[in-house]
Amino acid sequence: MSAITVLNHATVLDVQSGELWPQRRVVIQDGRIVRLEPMSVEAPEARAAELVQLDLRGKTLLPGLIDAHVHVLAWTANLRELNNASPHYNAHRAAGIMQGMLLRGFTTVRDAAGADFGLKRAVEEGLLVGPRLFICGRALSQTGGHADSRAAGEIAVETLSTPVAFGTVVDGVPEVRRATREEIRRGADHIKLMLGGGVASPTDRLTNDQYSLEEIRAAVEEAGMADLYVMAHTYTARSVNRAIECGVRSLEHCNLIDESSVELFLKHNAWMVPTLVTYQALAQEGVSAGLPKDVEHKIYLVLDKGILALEMAYKAGVNLAYGTDLLGAMHRCQLEEFAIRAQVQPNLEVIRAATLYAARLLRAEGHLGVVAPGAYADLIAVEGNPLEDIRVLTNPGRHLKLVMKGGTVYHQVH
Ligand SMILES: [Zn+2]
Repeated sequence: MSAITVLNHATVLDVQSGELWPQRRVVIQDGRIVRLEPMSVEAPEARAAELVQLDLRGKTLLPGLIDAHVHVLAWTANLRELNNASPHYNAHRAAGIMQGMLLRGFTTVRDAAGADFGLKRAVEEGLLVGPRLFICGRALSQTGGHADSRAAGEIAVETLSTPVAFGTVVDGVPEVRRATREEIRRGADHIKLMLGGGVASPTDRLTNDQYSLEEIRAAVEEAGMADLYVMAHTYTARSVNRAIECGVRSLEHCNLIDESSVELFLKHNAWMVPTLVTYQALAQEGVSAGLPKDVEHKIYLVLDKGILALEMAYKAGVNLAYGTDLLGAMHRCQLEEFAIRAQVQPNLEVIRAATLYAARLLRAEGHLGVVAPGAYADLIAVEGNPLEDIRVLTNPGRHLKLVMKGGTVYHQVH
């Protein structure tokens, strides 16, 4: 019989009902939760030989957090520097970033460009300490698009053979199909398209649409043939709307959407993944973290609008998941997104975006994002009640007492 871990006297936050269940016992075996019951029920394993017991009296037990928009390779905000560095060096930097994420309580992250099957394998084999990794490999970008890191005077372009990079530049339906198939071949969990201008890209304007409808549909079709979905980098209503109408399922950032976008989100059951904290962090310290000075002005085109877009989408009932999109030294702000969103949403809804809802987006419902029998034992314990005070989640040094992934304890403070 394999080892059993028992968490005793926990107050469980059931994210589904929004209720706190005091005095619960959580029994874990083979990396999964096998039982969740009141302490008053007799525990048959009390006499088992291989048994680890933890006392969580006075602590709130939540599902491990999920960040649905990260870049684990982004050790600098200068994406050109990143693309030009050795992939081995980048992997070592990613290891530190992923460990930081896990120790903040994120037991699963969805990478939105850069991480590949090698990093994913290293985490699965326990060579790297980090969250479960959902990957897309390289993001697909058109010439001059958000993942084209060349300055206007540069000619050489990253090609499909570039081993580790944020993006690959491909144009036209045949190239988009080939690049999508290539990422599927390399183990992608989802496909990422750059469908509009971005802050960190040197030559595009934020309001540019990128890729033709035919190119977007080609990627969506190829992804769908492999039972995968497409996520897209988009800011404006126009770029969000054309993406949703082409079948893109997960729309990132979305700072500049309007009511017409909200209608389409609802009609197509699409997902919105705001990443508000990254603009706050970029405005405060982006340049010192490596963001080229000549693109800094682009931050202010999206900084203030994002929270209004979130509020509008939330009130209308759009599917929302937690995302951060932080780069370089700014990764330490990963939990601040909770506090920003709590300005316009109840704490429970923000917590659901980082657990229950994010698991739905990842198509891992029942396995991730809940404290329930059958789910992975990805759990965090905090001191205090995050339903009443969101700062219980944003100050891990003070409140985070336990981080467990797949039944293994990575952080524990008594
Ligand atoms: Zn991103």
